[in-house]
Amino acid sequence: MYDVIIIGMGPAGMNAALYAKRSGLNVLILEKSLPGGLINITNKVENYLGNGISTGRELVEKMLEHIKNFDIEFKRESVNEITDENKVKIVRTNKGEYKAKALILASGRVPKKGDNEKITKLEGRGISYCAVCDAPFYKDKVVGIIGGGNSAFDEGLYLSDFAKKLYMFIRSDEIKADEIFVNKAKKKENIEILLNSNVTDLIEKDGKLSAVEINGKEKIDVDGLFLYIGYSPSTNYFKDLNITDETGYIIVNEKMETSIPGIFAAGDIIKKGVYQIITAASDGSIAALSAKKYIKNLDKN
Ligand SMILES: Cc1cc2nc3c(=O)[nH]c(=O)nc-3n(C[C@H](O)[C@H](O)[C@H](O)COP(=O)(O)OP(=O)(O)OC[C@H]3O[C@@H](n4cnc5c(N)ncnc54)[C@H](O)[C@@H]3O)c2cc1C
Repeated sequence: MYDVIIIGMGPAGMNAALYAKRSGLNVLILEKSLPGGLINITNKVENYLGNGISTGRELVEKMLEHIKNFDIEFKRESVNEITDENKVKIVRTNKGEYKAKALILASGRVPKKGDNEKITKLEGRGISYCAVCDAPFYKDKVVGIIGGGNSAFDEGLYLSDFAKKLYMFIRSDEIKADEIFVNKAKKKENIEILLNSNVTDLIEKDGKLSAVEINGKEKIDVDGLFLYIGYSPSTNYFKDLNITDETGYIIVNEKMETSIPGIFAAGDIIKKGVYQIITAASDGSIAALSAKKYIKNLDKN
């Protein structure tokens, strides 16, 4: 049996693993995809202190290099279910079953996908959710972005280095993104920010996206459309535990404790105000140290 199993290997999970291992715990970290989490699809990171300015991938490489020093057990498996049996927690994955005294849930969240049929049909045929992954396909083409938050602007700036023209379709009359992003975007000649612009329809030609309809009337030709319309927490594997609020985020206290003793949560999966790498990393460290305390008490009794 492990002392602690950490689910997710983004900045929250990696930092939790580092702190848990250094505190003497026997740790297993489970990750279903690429270690690094959302940082893998981040163009540029310039707000993680000590890292300078780098691509998301470069930061992930540094993080992985760092934790390699601590000999932390890692398995590339997807967690399907967890069960709380009081002093023992059971984790079932696509490959096996593991037991631990404590769990740290750090499975983050994923960008929301559009939920209408046309969007689904055109995914990979003009509709994308990841500029870092798909920007090269749109070299010298016309693209649009839906969204007005930091991710939309950051990724828009990246895309604008490839695209001939980039429209930013923002539904409201307000931009939510930080000023630093907005100012950079305004300086780029090929970016046009369109406020009060709701994309009401997608127009396709030969099975590919060819244009968008704005506010039910105007038509703008685009070769690609990138959606940054929010996020959904990755909670499928613990739906029965009843530890989330109505929006799906886990409720924790300042020790990163959920309402179930021995189950902690950290990073983008929890209900909080700021969803960033640095806050995820901080949550991870707190969760690990709280897990250490919990296990110490458990072992005493
Ligand atoms: C486009 C974009 C740009 C961003 N830019 C910045 C930026 O410049 N600066 C900044 O500070 N923040 C930025 N962020 C936010 C930042 O990436 C997140 O806040 C941070 O990655 C959250 O870390 P996390 O560890 O909580 O979750 P994640 O990074 O989402 O990692 C969670 C991990 O859990 C894994 N997982 C999920 N479910 C399971 C399962 N069932 N079994 C096993 N593993 C599972 C996932 O595969 C993933 O690897 C950006 C986000 C996006 C989307």
